[in-house]
Amino acid sequence: MYNPKSLKAEEFISHDEILDTLAYADAHKNNVELINQILEKAKKCKGLSHREAMLLLDCDIPEKNAEIFALAEQIKKDFYGNRIVMFAPLYLSNYCVNGCVYCPYHAINKHIKRKKLTQEEIAKEVIALQDMGHKRLAIESGEDPINNPIEYILESIKTIYSIKHKNGAIRRVNVNIAATTVENYRKLKEAGIGTYILFQETYHKESYEKLHPKGPKHNYAYHTEAMDRAMEGGIDDVGLGVLFGLERYRYEFAGLLMHAEHLEAVHGVGPHTISVPRIRRADDIDPSVFDNGIDDDTFAKIVACIRIAVPYTGMIMSTRESKECREKVIHYGISQISGGSKTSVGGYDTPEAEDDNSSQFEVSDNRTLDEVVRWLMQMGYIPSFCTACYREGRTGDRFMSLCKNLQIHNCCLPNALMTLKEYLMDYASPETRKIGEELIKKELNHIPMPKVHDICNDNLHRIEQGLRDFRF
Ligand code: SF4
Ligand code: SF4
Repeated sequence: MYNPKSLKAEEFISHDEILDTLAYADAHKNNVELINQILEKAKKCKGLSHREAMLLLDCDIPEKNAEIFALAEQIKKDFYGNRIVMFAPLYLSNYCVNGCVYCPYHAINKHIKRKKLTQEEIAKEVIALQDMGHKRLAIESGEDPINNPIEYILESIKTIYSIKHKNGAIRRVNVNIAATTVENYRKLKEAGIGTYILFQETYHKESYEKLHPKGPKHNYAYHTEAMDRAMEGGIDDVGLGVLFGLERYRYEFAGLLMHAEHLEAVHGVGPHTISVPRIRRADDIDPSVFDNGIDDDTFAKIVACIRIAVPYTGMIMSTRESKECREKVIHYGISQISGGSKTSVGGYDTPEAEDDNSSQFEVSDNRTLDEVVRWLMQMGYIPSFCTACYREGRTGDRFMSLCKNLQIHNCCLPNALMTLKEYLMDYASPETRKIGEELIKKELNHIPMPKVHDICNDNLHRIEQGLRDFRF
């Protein structure tokens, strides 16, 4: 039944294949010879199959685990250098007709405050986000055909791109809305979105149906096949993710990688990003009722094994995770993080909204964007506000081929430095600026091509003179 090329959810995410994979990993997880072979293959940075990656995830030999973590760190350095791309979520509406039992926006929650931003309110949110220094957003909305129809989402995207406040601009809008039709994906594509993100929540069909007892999201196949429709609608970059804690993590890990293999097999391009959220407390949601929660060590191992299995796919960690956890896990393969996030509807312009119980989850990392940027630099990372690829048409297979050949480095580093410079000039505190200027001076010398180095250097001076928005 298992067929990665099939367009049917139950064939490309075959339950039997997942069970076989788990049994195979159980049987071989301490087979040093096999693990060594897989690690050798992984060092070539061409990725691993779900079975191979599962074996690494299950391996509990301490020396081999040390090698797995070291390899994940190395692959991260090879593909992403020391750059971390910054983004923020923007919640448009928490009206929702679905019944997801882990999310406070579920339709039966009668005491949560329901809100939907008007275009004027969206403009205010965007100005507040621009004033923080953000350039890249992920818009979030519940599913509600009456309150949040596709026309509302499209109008909101238009509003977001239209706001130019001081030197600010939102240059990439990623979209996280419910599974929809090919026609609607086409409309999103035409609206100029970056990545279409949709979390699977769980790949386990039976659990999925229990966790989604009502509403359109109850339909497992429609939800699981959404990325195929998105790609048919012309969206090149799609983002996968599961909500860890709902089902057993080993099952989810295998399903996630099988989904990535499916996209590659059918569309010739894997997921642009993978998100690794863990379930969090929220209004009427108590994470302890879900008994599949994972500890930080397991979480770190999952991140490391995803990094090794799909080296070319960006990995996203949100403010669901605490500073301490982010510090521990970021090195193993995270390429994008959010900072200064508000998970309530209207929370940027009206911070009081954070307390009005319209939040989707409690944020664990409550630091400001400036604090997060400084913290990253103190750990040796370059915070990047780059959005160049999608604006230069480097999406889908064009992006992936550049990324797989490691050519993307000629763009990422100078773009990171130039966008960081903009941030330092326009939004940073004096302390952050000081650290950032030193970092830029040092990192400029790491640009390999002399011509690119010189152009970047010139542009950094132009940014000092007030010009903005340079990119490779
Ligand atoms: S997870 Fe999404 S679809 Fe489900 S209740 Fe929350 S907002 Fe609605
Ligand atoms: S150049 Fe492309 S891949 Fe690199 S950081 Fe910018 S948008 Fe991302």
